[in-house]
Amino acid sequence: MPSVQPACFEIMAILAILAIMAIYNVSMLIKQILDILVCPVPECRKPLTLASDESSLRCTGCGLIYPIRDGIPILLIDQAQKPQ
Ligand SMILES: [Zn+2]
Repeated sequence: MPSVQPACFEIMAILAILAIMAIYNVSMLIKQILDILVCPVPECRKPLTLASDESSLRCTGCGLIYPIRDGIPILLIDQAQKPQ
């Protein structure tokens, strides 16, 4: 069995939770799940804050901005916007 890095496993677990929530249409405020989300950049891993229009999440460490699509935070580094 290939070894999975703990950080990678954590992100996979969060994505699985979000997918289950989407499938069963569980209404959970983004603000509540913010407590368990961190920046996916391995050397960052800082907490995320919700934008005032609730359309994106901003990393408090590196400043990357992650989009929220259909209520699902897209925590992928290649989908994130760099801070201006
Ligand atoms: Zn970050």
